[in-house]
Amino acid sequence: MPDYVAAVDQGTTSTRCMIFDHGGNEVARHQLEHEQIMPKAGWVEHNPVEIWERTSSVIQTALGRKGLTDKDIAALGITNQRETTVVWNKRTGRPYYNAIVWQDTRTDRIASALDRDERGDIIRRKAGLPPATYFAGGKIQWILENVDGVREAAERGDAIFGTTDSWIVWNLTGGPNGGVHVTDVTNASRTMLMNLETLDWDDELLGFFDIPRQMLPEIRPSSEPKAYGTTVANGPLKGEVPITGILGDQQAAMVGQVCLDAGEAKNTYGTGNFLLLNTGQELVRSENGLLTTVCYQFGDQPPTYALEGSIAVTGSAVQWLRDQLRVISNAAQSETLAKEVEDNGGVYFVPAFSGLFAPYWRSDARGVIVGLSRFNTSGHIARATLESICYQSRDVADAMEKDSGVRLEVLKVDGGVTVNELCMQIQADVLGVEVSRPVVAETTALGAAYAAGLAVGFWKDTDELRQNWNESKRWTPTWSEGQRETGYAGWRKAVERTLDWVD
Ligand code: ADP
Repeated sequence: MPDYVAAVDQGTTSTRCMIFDHGGNEVARHQLEHEQIMPKAGWVEHNPVEIWERTSSVIQTALGRKGLTDKDIAALGITNQRETTVVWNKRTGRPYYNAIVWQDTRTDRIASALDRDERGDIIRRKAGLPPATYFAGGKIQWILENVDGVREAAERGDAIFGTTDSWIVWNLTGGPNGGVHVTDVTNASRTMLMNLETLDWDDELLGFFDIPRQMLPEIRPSSEPKAYGTTVANGPLKGEVPITGILGDQQAAMVGQVCLDAGEAKNTYGTGNFLLLNTGQELVRSENGLLTTVCYQFGDQPPTYALEGSIAVTGSAVQWLRDQLRVISNAAQSETLAKEVEDNGGVYFVPAFSGLFAPYWRSDARGVIVGLSRFNTSGHIARATLESICYQSRDVADAMEKDSGVRLEVLKVDGGVTVNELCMQIQADVLGVEVSRPVVAETTALGAAYAAGLAVGFWKDTDELRQNWNESKRWTPTWSEGQRETGYAGWRKAVERTLDWVD
């Protein structure tokens, strides 16, 4: 057995390749950003060709950094930004259109029309999702309706769809020369097209979006002993490595955090935030604005489900301070600036830039900064930005407790924002719950590596994964109950101000 497992994490802002050893330790990595294309307000696109080129480069460079070759890699796992939609020609390998990113809101009419009649409830029941611009189904429909020739090509079987996991696996396994067209249950569960009980594409749901079934990938388990395919010799690995794991990024983080028992939860702080709770084999339907999603499926075992609270804007609000408001010059300064003040000074910032996701699901919301007085400084704005990350997480945690009856005892965290110690302290204070960060912060890539490695016996079982998890830091709440409730009441008032903004 080779000594390492590789993972590709195709994220929203960048793509990275990481190599892990048996202890789950990082051995090498490389990461490259790709362009965020925003042709109009509310539209967000990526160039799939650029994404594939970046993927190729990061794999080669990560291997090269340790002088490794394909022979050193037991298996390759893929994790990806979910929902982001690519449609390409399987004969030429060329995309018909840029990838439409999960944050893109151009399909708001499609989503709201579905929600005006019984179709909305059918989607909720079968797919576990509220109709929203977020998910892939409407994005595929948009491409079919708006890009010349795609519908005919899809009917012919030439135009095929995939989220970026499918796009990468197809390219790694030969592209137009025999590439496999697959996805996993977790990615498929974000399309509004998969039935959560059968784990198959659902004809009634496909009908709502008028999507020809033949353009969809085959749905496979997240950890696949039979391998989806092997990498080709003329690709970035320069040899044949089995691809045996695929997981959407948030589900991968669940596996990387070894939240493998019902009742275990993690919160990932990246561009957006994603709090997931493992509900075991039970499909819990939310009554409080959360999503029901597949957490993972290992081989031929039954699927494990999760409840998810997705928040669109958290780390990206920090980017907004840097790039648009220009009160900081890098993300880390959000902490130094916020530390200049004692508290939020009455200021609340609700970054509802593209509406509000969980638990509100209001596409008519837009951002507000409220409570300003002459006394306030940029320090208060920075503090309010960090608090917004934590209060949005509290909204979701409260909904999760109502749906599941499980009260969080400790919140496992990961993602780019968790290096911000002040933000993590505020999170503990706002929730009244301890916050715990693991040593390996790259839980997404690690989770994909775990899924791939379990499939080939690189890791024997999930107990081995548990042994790899170690805490690096824990934050304990310091606020009084009164402080917590007053603070949260202010937040809820601020959220009210964002609603009904767009007609
Ligand atoms: P993604 O996988 O979604 O691309 P990452 O986990 O790489 O996201 O995290 C990137 C996000 O973290 C960015 O939105 C950035 O603004 C934020 N971030 C990075 N460092 C800090 C910091 N020190 N304080 C607050 N936010 C930060």
